[in-house]
Amino acid sequence: MRKINKLIIHCSATREGEDIDAATIKRWHLRRGWKDIGYHFIIRLDGTIELGRMIDVVGSHTKGENTNSIGICYIGGVENFRTDGEYKAKDTRTEKQKASIITLLRALKLIYKDASIHGHREFANKACPSFDAAKEYKNLKLNTNDGLYINKLASVINWLYGLYKNYSKSNSYRKG
Ligand SMILES: [Zn+2]
Repeated sequence: MRKINKLIIHCSATREGEDIDAATIKRWHLRRGWKDIGYHFIIRLDGTIELGRMIDVVGSHTKGENTNSIGICYIGGVENFRTDGEYKAKDTRTEKQKASIITLLRALKLIYKDASIHGHREFANKACPSFDAAKEYKNLKLNTNDGLYINKLASVINWLYGLYKNYSKSNSYRKG
């Protein structure tokens, strides 16, 4: 397994309320000449967690930090109107996105116990992910008393392993 010491949160920098899927982001990234989508996970507006790049493959999301990190991108991150000609950064996470990010982070922390949680902006001069991820998730802990959470976690883990099997079978890379 790849050594992972950071879980890095991103936003798609798409307008509030606009639902984009992983396949669309993958198309954008392929158009840039990348071999695959840059992120490992995409969190849709309705809280659906979609797979990007497989977690054991180095991503392309945070310059200088890709080798040992996992990139998680929620859809949104800017206002849905322009101010002074541009879309300003905004924490547009829906309640369902917030819940899914926490579920996913907890699942990943089971696999990568020592990984710390960050926002992209800690490593770049960017607003991404439009909120202070390090602060918000600093005290994220497994809550083993939460039955609903355990069920969700079990389904996420099953889902990850299922995807891993399919991914290993169906993907061959052109380079790197
Ligand atoms: Zn980012």
